[in-house]
Amino acid sequence: MAVSNAGNIRIVSGGNLGLDFINTANYKNGEIVEEWLFNVSDFIDWASHLNIGNNFSADLNNSDESFFEDIIQLRFSMYNIVTALINAREVNEQDVTIFNNWLKRANSSLEIRIDKSGDIVEGYSTNRDLESLLYPVVHSFKNLLESNHIKKVKQCSSDACNWLFIDNTKNKSKQWCTMDVCGNREKAKRHYRAKKNKN
Ligand SMILES: [Zn+2]
Repeated sequence: MAVSNAGNIRIVSGGNLGLDFINTANYKNGEIVEEWLFNVSDFIDWASHLNIGNNFSADLNNSDESFFEDIIQLRFSMYNIVTALINAREVNEQDVTIFNNWLKRANSSLEIRIDKSGDIVEGYSTNRDLESLLYPVVHSFKNLLESNHIKKVKQCSSDACNWLFIDNTKNKSKQWCTMDVCGNREKAKRHYRAKKNKN
């Protein structure tokens, strides 16, 4: 997992676009405690840093405010679905319905293009459309849910962070989203506590 800062936005790349999208906020007990998306422009910035919707540009207008609420609602539903699955809790039907509505929109614009050398590329027909920036995110998340990788998804065990990541280590020993951000901080804390207990 890699974490970088792009302007106001923290980009967390953890192997699945769906998880990366969920990781644009940080949650504690289901409540958002850190947020990196404050408006549609932030979302477009985030998408462009992950090379979604090449060179996307839009004339933003008022209706984009309600679209932004849809983005945040989708993200929260995805968060609820994945955290329920990895904690063996029942998944809320409403979250699945919200996700499915997006999935239907994404599927209805999925198409293939065949380039000159005969290679087939999957893409979306409405790539001038703001909501199409979410289509690859939605598909990627669906693929994750259907794959064995879902069993490897973990939440960072730091007190200060709940980021989601795929643990690809052989012995499934990864505890923190990143060593740089959380691993070092948590190690320092444990070291401090151990020292304190000794004295
Ligand atoms: Zn973390």
